[in-house]
Amino acid sequence: MGLRRAGAPAVMTGLPSSSTAPRGLHVITWGCQMNVYDSARMSDVLRPLGYQPVDTPDAADMIILNTCHIRDRAAEKVFSELGRLRKIKEARETAGQPTIIAVAGCVAQAEGQEILARAPYVDIVLGPQTYHRLPEMVARAARAGGAVIETDFPAEQKFDFLPDTAAPQTPGNLTAFLTIQEGCDKFCSFCVVPYTRGAEVSRSVTSVLAEARRMVESGVQDISLLGQNVNAYHGTGPDGEVWDLARLAYALAAIPGLNRIRYATSHPRDMDDALIAAHRDLPELMPYLHLPVQSGSDKILRAMNRGHTADEYREIVRKLHEARPDLALSSDFIVGHPGETDEDFEATMQLVRDVTFAQAYSFKYSQRPGTPAAGAPLQVPEDVKDARLQALQALLREQQDAFNQSLVGQTVPVLFTSEGRKAGQISGRSPWLQPVHVTGSRDLIGREVPVRITERLTNSLNGILEEEKVYA
Ligand code: SAM
Ligand code: SF4
Repeated sequence: MGLRRAGAPAVMTGLPSSSTAPRGLHVITWGCQMNVYDSARMSDVLRPLGYQPVDTPDAADMIILNTCHIRDRAAEKVFSELGRLRKIKEARETAGQPTIIAVAGCVAQAEGQEILARAPYVDIVLGPQTYHRLPEMVARAARAGGAVIETDFPAEQKFDFLPDTAAPQTPGNLTAFLTIQEGCDKFCSFCVVPYTRGAEVSRSVTSVLAEARRMVESGVQDISLLGQNVNAYHGTGPDGEVWDLARLAYALAAIPGLNRIRYATSHPRDMDDALIAAHRDLPELMPYLHLPVQSGSDKILRAMNRGHTADEYREIVRKLHEARPDLALSSDFIVGHPGETDEDFEATMQLVRDVTFAQAYSFKYSQRPGTPAAGAPLQVPEDVKDARLQALQALLREQQDAFNQSLVGQTVPVLFTSEGRKAGQISGRSPWLQPVHVTGSRDLIGREVPVRITERLTNSLNGILEEEKVYA
């Protein structure tokens, strides 16, 4: 099983035993949507042991810190948070309440031994591929009174060991994440994911469809399929064939009540014609696509090992718009990758002007130990990265505002999900994920209704209900 014990003794003794008496579980989640999904699955596997979610760490018999390693000072952030959790653990212990601290996610994977050496009060360290073994780890930590570390990549797939009852994350939710693929074989120069999440693995079609059906039965209407390279999905189908994401999307769209399907994060290299055709054919596939490009310079794209040029990206976008004219794009950008000159940065700005994005995330390049770019020559000075990031973000913000403004006066379908902050207000999401607020009855929550957009706010839209035409 690859379970091994760390030399560092745990400070605490008398961990809770593995009975099923009710206990509090508090999960702190940092990072991407996949971590949000993983946190929910960790809660699922611990539920049979009696663990129920609690809102604060002080009320928790077990605290899980689910970490992200993607950018700056990830480990330092973890140690600082652990310092805070240690005080809580010690206070609870003084009051006779043993508490387990577990560190999960990509920092645990990359720096497991370091965590146990520097924070010996941590009881469990587990990587993203082993959380299906959490109950066993809890039992072992309780028995031995020493720290347990599991950061290997087990031969079995964790998805096959999750309880059937898993999902949705919160009963009554209308939207949910569903991880269908994990890991990455692409090895971009800057990225830790292939090292922390391991090789690309896809879940079987049967297990994805079963989980989606369970979600829909419990009321979910809008599912976001997740994967580090979600459009590289290649799951085994019930017919024994390998299904790609396009084929999976058609099968998901056939589930009655599943009205909205999204997927993230996609790689341009895997955006094939079949998937583009699915955008043409399936109204359930939302017209909003996160398609990271990182840079608009062919030289930098090559250095990043992205496997496509800027013009190839433009061509994919052209085909997508041809298939689905209302499709809007979101993206990720990195400024200041080693070797990036002013000219390369200008090529990125030009690509943004050419493509136009409804929304985007942009980051300063951050050296990740062990990745090829970390040791590359021509690292870009911090002040240059700062200036480029500011210029890029100003342009992206302008485009985001223009996209939101373009919806004013239009009628769009809004899936209402909650009451708004103001009295008599309800809120929902547009197909492009903007929050939309209207004055209306809370009976509309759970329904998709046409709304005429009347006003653009900073990060959301106001609208009024059109004559009620229910799609759902
Ligand atoms: N698989 C996705 C793709 O290929 O675009 C990206 C997944 S990655 C978890 C999310 C984003 O973090 C990347 O798109 C990239 O923009 C950013 N990122 C990753 N490593 C980075 C680094 N070393 N410095 C700055 N940003 C980084
Ligand atoms: Fe990281 Fe995405 Fe590149 Fe994989 S494809 S190495 S996850 S940026």
